[in-house]
Amino acid sequence: MSDDPSVLSTPADPDPAGENLDPVAISQAQFHRAAHYISGLKAGLIDFFNVPKRAVIFRFPVEMDDASVQTFEGYRVLHSRVLGPGKGGIRYHPGVTMEETAALAALMTWKCALIDVPFGGAKGGVVCDTKRLSAGELRRITRRFATELAPVIGPFTDIPAPDLYTNGQTMAWIYDTYDILHAGRNNRPVVTGKPVDLGGSLGRYEATGLGVAFATERFLSSELIPGLSGFNGARVVVQGFGQVGAVAAQAFHAAGATIVAVSDSKGGIFCEQGIDLAQAKALKKEQGTVVGLPDSMTVTNEELLEIDCDILIPAAAGDAIRADNAGRIKAKLVVEAANRPITPMADDILAAGGIHVLPDILANAGGVTVSYFEWVQNHANEQWDLDVVNGKLKRKMQTAVDTVLARYRKLSDTGSGESATGTTGAPGLPVDLRTAALVVAIERVSSAALERGIWP
Ligand code: NAD
Repeated sequence: MSDDPSVLSTPADPDPAGENLDPVAISQAQFHRAAHYISGLKAGLIDFFNVPKRAVIFRFPVEMDDASVQTFEGYRVLHSRVLGPGKGGIRYHPGVTMEETAALAALMTWKCALIDVPFGGAKGGVVCDTKRLSAGELRRITRRFATELAPVIGPFTDIPAPDLYTNGQTMAWIYDTYDILHAGRNNRPVVTGKPVDLGGSLGRYEATGLGVAFATERFLSSELIPGLSGFNGARVVVQGFGQVGAVAAQAFHAAGATIVAVSDSKGGIFCEQGIDLAQAKALKKEQGTVVGLPDSMTVTNEELLEIDCDILIPAAAGDAIRADNAGRIKAKLVVEAANRPITPMADDILAAGGIHVLPDILANAGGVTVSYFEWVQNHANEQWDLDVVNGKLKRKMQTAVDTVLARYRKLSDTGSGESATGTTGAPGLPVDLRTAALVVAIERVSSAALERGIWP
C-alpha cells in the first residue's frame, strides 16, 4: 500500500524526548487511564484485558525466485473474543514485531466494541519487505502463512483483513488457501477486504476515509470547538495521502473544507488556496509522491504537522505526534485517521493546550465497520448496494460519536480528572475524548464478559 516501507517503522524507544514509545506500554497506559473511571470493573478483569488471550509465532520456509530457501516469521494475536470472533488486519513490514501486533490487537478489541460490531480484537503480520519480493514470492509467502494460520483463523473464530502492505489480492490468496483446506462449505467470511468478485463489499476501500469524515462532521456539529461547527471554510491538513488520507481529504473537500496541505513519505505540499486533490492524486500515481505539485510549496512532514490550521489529520504512521513536537501543533482539532499517531505524553500536551483529539478507535473505525458488513453479506450470500453500505456506515459512525460525546460530558461534569472510584485518571487534566471512548469500550467488553460468566 504505502510507497516506502522503511518510513513506517516504529521508532526505537525511548525517543529523544525521553518518552517510552513501546507500543505495549502505550496501549496499557491508555487502558489504565480509562479503567480508573470505571467504578464497577471487577477486580482481576483489568489483568485479563491487559494481555492477549492468544499469541502465536509462526516460522516457515519459502522458496525464493533464485531457488534459495528463506525462513519467514509471522504472528497472529487474538486479544479478546468476548464480543465475538477476532477481527484485525495482517501487515507485511520489516518492522513488524510481536509487541506491536499485540498492542494493535488490543486496539481492535476496543474499536470493535465502541463501534458496536460483534467482534473481538486481533492482529497479525509477517516480517518481510514487500518492495524486495516478486509477486510469486509474495504469493508463496502468503499461501504458506495462510496454511500455518489455518488452525487459528476461521469465519467464526478469527477473521483477518488487509493492513499495511497487504491488500485484496493477499486476502484472495488467504481465502483460496483456507477454502482448499476446508472444502465443501461457505468460507468467504474467513477474511474481509476481498476483491468484490470474491465477495468483497462495495465501499470497503473508501470506508475508513469516509468514516473519518462522517465522525468529524458529527463531532463538529456538537459545537465543542468554538467557531468550528462544520466543514464549511475549515482549513485542513492531512499527513499521509494513501488509502485513508486521500479518501478523507476528498470527503472533507466535497463537504466544503479547504485542504491546505497533504503529504506522503517523501514530503509534503502546502497551498493556502487549497490543494488540487485530483492533480495531487495523479502526480502520486505517476511519480510516487505528491511533492512537486505545481503552485504548491514543498514542506517537510515535521513542518506539515505544525501548520496553523483548523483540523489536522495524521493518516500515516504511528507516533507522529510525540512529546517533542506536540507543543508546536496549532490545529484546533486533531483527528486520528492512523492507528496510534499520538503518544500519551503528546495527548496530555495537546489537552493542556485546549486541542481536542478524535481518537483512532472512533475516527478510523469505518474500515472495520464495513468489514463487518462484508462478513454479514458473505454469510447471507448477498451484495449490498453502495448507498446501503455508506448509509449504514454513516449511522454507525454518528451513533459512536454521540455515545462518546455523551460519556465525555458526563465524565467532565463529575469534576476535572476525578474518577468514579475516587482516584485520579490524569492528574490535573480534564478527561479527554480518548479516555471517554475507551471507557465506553471497556465497559461494554467487561459487562459482556461478566454476562457470559467466567467459565467454569
Ligand atoms: P497506505 O499505505 O495506503 O497510505 C499511507 C500513506 O502514508 C502513504 O501515502 C505513505 O506515503 C504515507 N506515509 C508513510 N510514512 C509516512 C511518514 N512518516 N510521513 C508522512 N507520510 C507517510 O495506508 P492506509 O491504509 O491509508 O493506512 C494509513 C494509516 O491508517 C495506518 O496507520 C493504518 O494502520 C491506519 N488504518 C487504516 C485502515 C484502512 O482501512 N486502510 C483502517 C484503520 C486504520
